[in-house]
Amino acid sequence: MPNPAAPVSDRPAEGRSEFQARVHEWFAANAPRKGSPEDFSAVHIVSAATAEEYRAQEQHAISVTRAWQRRLFDAGLAGRSWRPEYGGHGAPDWQDEVVIEEQARWGVSTKMFAVGLEMVPAVLFGHGTHEQRATFLPPILRGEHSWCQLLSEPGAGSDLANVQTRATPVDGGGWSVTGQKVWTSNAGCSEYALLIARTGSREEGRAGLSCFLLDMAQPGVDIRPLRQMSGAYHFNEVFLDDAHVPENGLIGAPGEGWAVLRTMLASERAAIGGGTSARSATQLVGLARTLGCDGDPVVRDLLAQAAIRERTLDLLRARIAAGHAVAAAGPTTKLLYSEHARLSADAATTILGMAATVVDDEVSAPWIERLLFAPGLRLGGGTDEIQRNAIAERGLGLPR
Ligand SMILES: Cc1cc2nc3c(=O)[nH]c(=O)nc-3n(C[C@H](O)[C@H](O)[C@H](O)COP(=O)(O)OP(=O)(O)OC[C@H]3O[C@@H](n4cnc5c(N)ncnc54)[C@H](O)[C@@H]3O)c2cc1C
Repeated sequence: MPNPAAPVSDRPAEGRSEFQARVHEWFAANAPRKGSPEDFSAVHIVSAATAEEYRAQEQHAISVTRAWQRRLFDAGLAGRSWRPEYGGHGAPDWQDEVVIEEQARWGVSTKMFAVGLEMVPAVLFGHGTHEQRATFLPPILRGEHSWCQLLSEPGAGSDLANVQTRATPVDGGGWSVTGQKVWTSNAGCSEYALLIARTGSREEGRAGLSCFLLDMAQPGVDIRPLRQMSGAYHFNEVFLDDAHVPENGLIGAPGEGWAVLRTMLASERAAIGGGTSARSATQLVGLARTLGCDGDPVVRDLLAQAAIRERTLDLLRARIAAGHAVAAAGPTTKLLYSEHARLSADAATTILGMAATVVDDEVSAPWIERLLFAPGLRLGGGTDEIQRNAIAERGLGLPR
């Protein structure tokens, strides 16, 4: 009898359903169930009343995620499609999809590693050197390095062509970076950042931007947790004062930052569309059953609408995974996802009724958290309006 806790070894000719069964077996033997006391599927939603509590929560979240990522790596389940010289297995892309789909069913999450697992590879394969890939990719798969994104600034959010943070070449090689970034998720627990900075003049706009790999553990990087309107801490602002980037930390050539950024944002948008809320319809059905109202016609209507949205999102993602040409794929996925998350959280409050105001109840609490987080999903990774612009211009060919 095979040991389900043993690593999933490489069998290149294996079919999807056979691989799926083996992955399922491994998760059943190794992952906590959703709803069990060990469930950490929401650990990446870090939100705290004080800066100290926020830092502590962030450290807890990253250490749990590191341990889980390491287990996936040791089991041969991390980076199935990545090339062996970068820590992977050289398997077909669909095997990563299978692992992601299976993972979403259990009480686990690697979302704290989203930038490293989903955006850094796209950026380095599209624009980086072999040396950069060989240096930076394997530690991500092993759960050793976490990454964040230093893009947004107080004067540059949707309009990233307006980035003012400046990178200046220094004698002896490398770059000195000075400026201010804002809304940085996971800055306090990341070893490295993807950074966009200005190497040309302001007048050059996007042609004056360059993209860098920045080591976050240095004196020139000051991370300050940011208090939001709700009173909670969820993000950071990051002040860069003569922060150093070595010569090999530049991705592509100076002035190619906009092309790198487009690759990064496309992979981010596609990745966001696979987040935990993508399974909201299934969870709404569970909620209605728990409350005994799944026979109510109004509730059934809400459940049917959520199921249709979820199916649409699944089919779109399946088409993309199967290699079909989907115009504006990233923006469309991200927009569908943020709408699904918002409408499903609204539906949950209708189903919960007055119970939606009880914050310390174990049935309502996760939905209240989602309801409050849903507006943020409409902004992070580019706002809904920006996605609509991209779909109109790139997907439908409409004029700007
Ligand atoms: C959950 C979350 C996580 C985030 N994580 C990070 C991170 O890790 N790193 C990082 O760098 N940033 C991060 N951000 C910041 C995010 O990328 C920005 O908030 C977003 O790009 C919008 O920028 P802004 O806040 O400056 O709004 P603005 O760009 O000022 O936009 C304000 C409003 O104007 C609208 N608008 C702007 N331009 C147009 C246009 N051309 N057409 C139509 N409408 C327009 C917008 O849709 C929005 O409603 C995060 C944000 C959230 C909510």
